[in-house]
Amino acid sequence: MPLLPRLRALTAAAAVVLVLVVVALFVTSQIDTTADDLLELVAALIAAVSCGLAARGSHGRLRLGWTALAGACAFWGAGEAIWSVYELMLHQETPFPSAADVGFLAFPVGAMAALLVFPARASGSDRRRMTLDGLTTTTAIALISWSTALGAVIRQGADSTLASVVAVAYPLSDVGLLVVCVLVLSRAGGHRAVLGIVASGLALMAVADSAFAYAVAQNSYATGDLLDLGWYFAFFLLALAPMAPGALESTAHDDSASVAGGLLPYIPLTVAAVVEISRYGMGHRPGLFESVLCGVLMALVLVRQALTGRDNRRLAQSLTERERELRHQAFHDGLTGLANRALYVDRVTHALNLHSRDGRPLTICFLDLDGFKHVNDTLGHSAGDDLLVQVSERFSSVLSSADTLARFGGDEFAVLFEDSPEPLRLATSLLEALTAPFTLATGAATASVSIGVARVGRHDSTPTVDELLTRADLAMYAVKRRGKSGVLLHTAALAIEDVDLGPQLALALTNREVHVAYQPIVELATGRTHTLEALARWSPQGIPVTPDLFIPLAERAGLLDELFTLVLEESLFRLASWTPGVRVAVNVSPSQLRPSLVAQVSNALVRYGIEGSRLVLELTETDGLADTERARQVCDELRALGVRLAVDDFGSGSSTLARLRDLPIDEVKIDRSFISCIDRDPRCLRFVRAVLAFADELGLVVVAEGVEKREERETLAGLGVHLAQGHLFSLPLPPEQVADALQTDPSSQQSRTPA
Ligand code: C2E
Ligand code: MG
Ligand code: MG
Repeated sequence: MPLLPRLRALTAAAAVVLVLVVVALFVTSQIDTTADDLLELVAALIAAVSCGLAARGSHGRLRLGWTALAGACAFWGAGEAIWSVYELMLHQETPFPSAADVGFLAFPVGAMAALLVFPARASGSDRRRMTLDGLTTTTAIALISWSTALGAVIRQGADSTLASVVAVAYPLSDVGLLVVCVLVLSRAGGHRAVLGIVASGLALMAVADSAFAYAVAQNSYATGDLLDLGWYFAFFLLALAPMAPGALESTAHDDSASVAGGLLPYIPLTVAAVVEISRYGMGHRPGLFESVLCGVLMALVLVRQALTGRDNRRLAQSLTERERELRHQAFHDGLTGLANRALYVDRVTHALNLHSRDGRPLTICFLDLDGFKHVNDTLGHSAGDDLLVQVSERFSSVLSSADTLARFGGDEFAVLFEDSPEPLRLATSLLEALTAPFTLATGAATASVSIGVARVGRHDSTPTVDELLTRADLAMYAVKRRGKSGVLLHTAALAIEDVDLGPQLALALTNREVHVAYQPIVELATGRTHTLEALARWSPQGIPVTPDLFIPLAERAGLLDELFTLVLEESLFRLASWTPGVRVAVNVSPSQLRPSLVAQVSNALVRYGIEGSRLVLELTETDGLADTERARQVCDELRALGVRLAVDDFGSGSSTLARLRDLPIDEVKIDRSFISCIDRDPRCLRFVRAVLAFADELGLVVVAEGVEKREERETLAGLGVHLAQGHLFSLPLPPEQVADALQTDPSSQQSRTPA
């Protein structure tokens, strides 16, 4: 064990031994003057040494406190030594007052100082107030003592003015000490245990002192009196206090004061005032000492009031600052200092209010860094934080003060543009802001971001905050799906992409909410409508969804048969009312080539009174056929009904030739991708020429799809293509417009022969 703790343990043991010896002597009445004087001296010295050792082992205020306490004990010991010299060596009664009283009276002063510097849960101003309160209480009690019977008794018993002042000084200093004990204890924080022991020791001391003073004044004190035990135990407690847990460790303190502690000094003050006023009322005129005490008391109260006022102002000021700080914390991101989600949502809500009031447009962006997790995982979190801070600075640099940039936590950021004319350009500049590499402590790093944009235009209806945020979020995720690092504006179609529409499509088919548009396939030579291709149209909640999106959906949901039935029935029904010569083409998936199809088609033809030769079934060539033999059989039976079969999007799939070999096909529709390049790319031209030769060889009719330009039409006509379809001739039309279109056909009067 190191020296200091060993010495401390030794001192504590000595204190215990001493108190046991003393108690034994008192109990057996064997205590005599010599033993009493010497043992008291030893007790004080043990306490002084113990506190001194505690001072050595501690720091700061704590060390000061223990030093003051050690000093107080040492002074008391010195007083006791002088007392003993008179009694034991000079064999005379110690005069009163004597030099010993200096030592004894120094004790409460040192003890009070110790209590005030001990790091209790008290701030500097708390300590000042405690000192003032101690002084006020002491002065008030001095005044009361002096003015009442107590004072009179003390004065009577004393031989001189000095003697009476010293005699009064004992109880006064003790009362002051008691008051400070109570005040300190009411605020003791981390050192409650230590301070409790010290204060108990000091309180015991004060009581013993007062009893001593009274006994001396009454000339009834003799060494070895039972009241001496008070001192022994007081020093015992002071010697053991440094052994209490936490006695040598400094703790943080906070500012808080107890109401009771604050009110304490007002009790003696009020009593003093009542005493003085009633004495005045009884005709007593105060003497010089009394007047001085009254003046001091008033001055103390004034100073205390001033101090309290100043503290209150400081408190109010610090509260305001703290509130401002808290508000900032509540609405800002700790890492980047940007607005947080709460503030952002608040701003967006406000912007939406402005939109609903006077149509002011707004745009929001959701930004999510690409692969940020990887940075965090490989370079560490502090590098990740560093990157986030730099990214936020880059973003800020391209924005204006009118825009709100927020961080939602993690690698998610958001921007609000209010009334900005070019939000998409700004969103793109956010994307570009990250192109240059970043310099982190760990080296260079790159970053990219996926940005989802949602805009509320002047004439749009005002969405809710949640709706708007969801739109930006959907757009952002669409960017992620499409390969990250990009900007995407949220649109209605995008919303559809993210919702599971299977059940909705099923319902739409049952309720016949899927419609059919008809796109003419024309004869190039005459411009006459030869065939009308039936194309399914669906607009859930009024938002059109392209077939490229909902056909695969229908396939996944097992709804292709229902779709085919709807389109077939609807087109045959319409066809019955159209020009006799025209045909209708219905799309069918090769997977639907099952025997039941034949019965279905044949039934429908009969029901609508349509000849089989007026119906074409277009087979997409994309998906493979599981059972070629069965499909072939179905095709044969369909052809037996007069129905013609076409291969759709010829050239774009993978199994076209096999299909042509395996199935009895009548027509091929050359895919749009070969037509759109026909006047630019010689290879396209050669391909189309080859298909024509090959079709000729197999006896197939050729249709060119997706003709958009006049040059394409000329080229195709030059090559000998007879039939074509495309926007150049007509868009897909709703059925009501088809009749008109057929009426105005360039040669509708001529008779037609099906190809
Ligand atoms: P498809 O059978 O090849 O139909 C032709 C597609 O090309 C139609 O697209 C049509 O609007 C479009 N188109 C026609 N002329 C032009 C042009 O000049 N330029 C351009 N850019 N496009 C042109 P749509 O209506 O979007 O249909 C897409 C595909 O969805 C169809 O391709 C077809 O495979 C499928 N589909 C449509 N309706 C049905 C249906 O009822 N059943 C089945 N199974 N599939 C259908
Ligand atoms: Mg088609
Ligand atoms: Mg096609």
